[in-house]
Amino acid sequence: MKLILLGAPGAGKGTQAVKLNEVMGLTHVSTGDIFRKNMREETALGMEVKAYIDKGLLVPDEVTIKLITDTLSKIDGDYMLDGFPRTIAQAKALDEVADIDVALNIDVDLNVLTDRISGRRSCPDCGSVGHISTMTGNNCTKCGSEMIQRKDDNVETVKSRLVEYSSKTAPLIEYYEKAGKLINVDGMGTPSEVWDRVSKVLSK
Ligand code: AMP
Repeated sequence: MKLILLGAPGAGKGTQAVKLNEVMGLTHVSTGDIFRKNMREETALGMEVKAYIDKGLLVPDEVTIKLITDTLSKIDGDYMLDGFPRTIAQAKALDEVADIDVALNIDVDLNVLTDRISGRRSCPDCGSVGHISTMTGNNCTKCGSEMIQRKDDNVETVKSRLVEYSSKTAPLIEYYEKAGKLINVDGMGTPSEVWDRVSKVLSK
C-alpha cells in the first residue's frame, strides 16, 4: 500500500506513522525528518531550507518535489508519506511518479494544536514523538536517544505553520476526495485511541 498521511502540524501524523511502520511494515518517508537531518549535518540542502523551517514557512515546491522524487525512486515496495504533499503543485507532481492508494486525513480540532506542538518532544534519531504531559523520562522509548524539542515547535512558529497549513495544505483534502482516495479519521484522543481507528479503517 502507498499511503499519504494528511493533517495539520500536531495532528499526530508522526505518531501514527511509527505504528504503521511497526504493524504494516510501510517505509516511513517524512520530508520534515529528511530536512532536519540535512540541517543537523549542515548539507547544502540543509542550509537552503533552514530559514524557511525556522520561520514555520513551507520550503519551495521545486526543492521539496526534487527531494521526494529522488527518495521514492530508491524505495522498492510500500511506503507512507508523512508531510508530503503539502501543496496542490506537490500533489500533482506526486501523481506523475507514484500511484497512491489512500490519503488518510487525521482530523483534529485546530484549537488543540498549539498545546500539542509546544509540549511535543521528538527523537532526533528514529523520529518518535511524545508529549511532556505523558512522558516518564527524557529518553526515546523506542531507541533510547535523548528526546529534544524541535526548534520550530514553539508558539510563535506554530502560528505561521498553521497559516501555511490552512492556506496551502488543507485544499489537499478536497483534491484527494475528488480522486476517490480520501479516508478521514478522527484524530482527537490518545495516540492509541487514534491508532484503533486508523487500523480499523485501513483493514477494510
Ligand atoms: P514536519 O516535520 O512535517 O512538521 O515539517 C517541518 C517543516 O519542514 C515544515 O514546517 C516545513 O517548513 C518543512 N516541510 C516539510 N515537508 C514539507 C513539504 N512537503 N513542503 C514544504 N515544506 C515542507
